[in-house]
Amino acid sequence: MKVNFFTPTREYLEKKEEFNKAISAVLESGSFIFGPQVSELEEEIKKYTGAKHAIAVASGTDALLVSSHALGFKDGDEIITSPFTFLASTSCIAKLNAKPVFVDVDEDTFNLDANKIEEKITSKTASILPIHLFSQMADMDKIMDIASKHNLSVLEDAAEAFGMQWGGSSSEYKHSGTIGDIGIYSFFPTKTLGGYGDGGMIVTNNDKLAETAKMLRVHGASKKYHYDYIGYNSRLDSIQAAVLLVKLKYIDNALKQRQKVADWYKERLADCDYIKLPTVKGNQKPVYYAFNTLVEKRDELAAYLKENEIGTSIYYPIPLHLQKCFDYLGYKKGDFPVAEKLSTKVLALPIYPEITEDEVNFVCETIKKFYTK
Ligand SMILES: *Cc1c(COP(=O)(O)O)cnc(C)c1O
Repeated sequence: MKVNFFTPTREYLEKKEEFNKAISAVLESGSFIFGPQVSELEEEIKKYTGAKHAIAVASGTDALLVSSHALGFKDGDEIITSPFTFLASTSCIAKLNAKPVFVDVDEDTFNLDANKIEEKITSKTASILPIHLFSQMADMDKIMDIASKHNLSVLEDAAEAFGMQWGGSSSEYKHSGTIGDIGIYSFFPTKTLGGYGDGGMIVTNNDKLAETAKMLRVHGASKKYHYDYIGYNSRLDSIQAAVLLVKLKYIDNALKQRQKVADWYKERLADCDYIKLPTVKGNQKPVYYAFNTLVEKRDELAAYLKENEIGTSIYYPIPLHLQKCFDYLGYKKGDFPVAEKLSTKVLALPIYPEITEDEVNFVCETIKKFYTK
């Protein structure tokens, strides 16, 4: 049995007519940039997440860069963030000549360890950039407390976290991305809300940041050919917005299905001593964008699963402080032991709403076979 790590095809075939109709409507209208679908998607994202503003851009990476720029990251500003994430969470800081300051991660959640933030704060610290990875949000109670105590802004990288909600000590849950000053989602095809190409969204409750971000995505223009800033060309295609509007209609069901698949894995792998399954910390509603486990003999297991036609992925094989492009920051091996250990043990198993119970059974049986062979 072949099990894809991810496939967008099943959902497309299930709802082919609906997707085709939505895409054809854009083609027939001829309005490919900032067509009505883009503002409709922004409205729907506001409604769904409770954010006051939603600004569509060309990718999650751009959403991070535009947000960083809008927050005013600049020369020498220190931005506290995690080394265990995708490049874009840190390149947005470096591109603006601000300085990424890494803090190690929590071994159970893979997210920024909020207990280690304060020791890194200096007079140059400007912001905290938490990333909500894989299935759960970073400890936003602690992060927001530290930010307000030290007067720092907070940019939430919620690229993987669409639909995740944080309750913390409050009884009211808030969507990822809407708790800090500004937050971002990615619509990369594999993401929980994924398009048929690149796309991203910025959310904020701050009117001024929203206004600046809106200008920055169109070259910094306040009106056509009047430039207040040196900005970017970062717009969401109408075709992607049309696809995402279809997907957003079914998102609650997709989130439930992801939870169901995670439960299948947890039941079937509970008795396997060589695997540490994901555990959720804090009062929050997780979303299983990825089912990331910590496993013994990771590379051998991954190779064995591949031989058996099971797709897996390693998020992330090298923490950012050890990447060549960040040599200039002066970090070395041993600086962030938790992130370094995780990078040798993480293995993500296939999870998407359309994966079947038979496929999950096959993945789990094959894993157990590997450890008993
Ligand atoms: C996917 C991802 C991004 C970048 O999003 P793109 O849409 O691919 O540019 C940023 N941060 C994290 C944590 C991601 O997983």
